Amino acid sequence: HSQERLFNFAAGPATLPESVLRRAQSELFLWRGSGMSVMEMSHRGKDFKSIIEKAEADLRTLLQIPSDYSVLFLQGGATTQFAAVPLNVCRSAADPVDYILTGSWSDKAFKEAQKYSKPNAIWSGKPEKYTKIPSFSDLQQNPDAKYLHICANETIHGVEYKTYPTPLNPDAVLVADMSSNFCSKPVDVSRFGIIYAGAQKNVGPSGVTIVIIRNDLIGEAQEITPVMLDYKIHADNNSLYNTPPCFGIYMCGLVFEDLLDQGGLAQVEKRNVEKAQILYNAIDRSNGFYRCPVEKSVRSLMNVPFTLEKPELEAEFIKEAAKENMVQLKGHRSVGGMRASIYNAMPLAGVQKLVSFMKDFQAKHA
Ligand code: PLP
Repeated sequence: HSQERLFNFAAGPATLPESVLRRAQSELFLWRGSGMSVMEMSHRGKDFKSIIEKAEADLRTLLQIPSDYSVLFLQGGATTQFAAVPLNVCRSAADPVDYILTGSWSDKAFKEAQKYSKPNAIWSGKPEKYTKIPSFSDLQQNPDAKYLHICANETIHGVEYKTYPTPLNPDAVLVADMSSNFCSKPVDVSRFGIIYAGAQKNVGPSGVTIVIIRNDLIGEAQEITPVMLDYKIHADNNSLYNTPPCFGIYMCGLVFEDLLDQGGLAQVEKRNVEKAQILYNAIDRSNGFYRCPVEKSVRSLMNVPFTLEKPELEAEFIKEAAKENMVQLKGHRSVGGMRASIYNAMPLAGVQKLVSFMKDFQAKHA
C-alpha cells in the first residue's frame, strides 16, 4: 500500500492531472456555493446545466469543433458506439460499410457492426501482428460504403494514424474511435463524420463517452435502434434525455479547462511528442535489450508497447519498477510484453524515471 501517488502507466482508467484531482477534491463536498456535491445535484438544475455547457464549450474551443457538429456526453463506453455507429448511419443491416483493422479495437468494432450493417474489412494488420497502418492508396474501398471506420490509436498494439484516409464514396464519412488519443493533439474535426471516445484515458473517469457528430448524420437511425443509442434523442435533449453521468462530465470539464490553461492541444501535443521520443529512443538505443515491434512512422504517442530480449525477466522488471513507484507496465494479456501508457497527464518526470530505470535494469542484466 502506497501513501504517495504512483506513476501510473495504465492504459485506462488512467492517470489524471494532479491539479484537476486536487481541484475536484476541494469542491467535492460543496460545489461553489450550491450547498451540495456535484454527485447530488439534479441534472436538470441550473448548476449542472452550467457544468455541462461549460464542458461542451471548452471542448469546442480545444478541438475547434465546427458549428454544424453536435457534442454528446453519453454512457456505455466506446464499446456501445461500436453498435451505435452502424445503427445510426446505416438505413438497414444490408448497407455496406468499410473497416480498417489495425488492432484489437478496430477488430471488435468490425465484429459488432456485423449485426447492424454489412461491414467489409478492407485491410487487416493481423498477419503482421498489428504493427502497421496501411498505405491509403492500397486500400480497396467499396464505392457504396456508407462510412469508413478507423481506430485512430490502437491502445493495445500501439499504432497510431498520423494522417487520415478519405472515404472513396463522396457521400460516405470517416468515423474514428479516438478513445486513446482524444485531446492528445489537434485534430481537424471537419475531416470526420463521427469521432467517439471513452473518457477514461485522457479526459476523465470511466463512465463518460464523448461523441462528436456532424449534424446531417443525425436523425435517420434504423428502426430497431434503442433510444439510448439514438443520436437524435441525445442531440435533441442536449445529452439530458435520461440521467447522464453527471460527476464524470464535471471531471471531464475540469480536464478541458486544464488543457486550455496549458495552452491548448498544440502545446499538449508538443509535450506528448517529447515524452514519447524519450521513451522510444531509450528502447531503440538499448542494443536489442528492449524492442518495440511497431513500425516507426506510426508509433503511438500514447501507448508504447515493448518486449524484453529475455522474456524471463519480465516479471522481475515489473516487480522492480513497482518498488520504484511505477505501476501498470504489464502489456495487455493478448499480446504480452510491456506497455507504458503515457497519456497527457503522465508527467515528463514519470517518463524520465521509467527510462532511467530501464537503463539500470539493463545494466544489471546485460
Ligand atoms: N476503443 C479503444 C481504442 C479503447 O482503448 C477502448 C478501451 O480501452 C475501447 C474502445 C473500449 O472502451 P470502453 O471500455 O469504454 O467501452
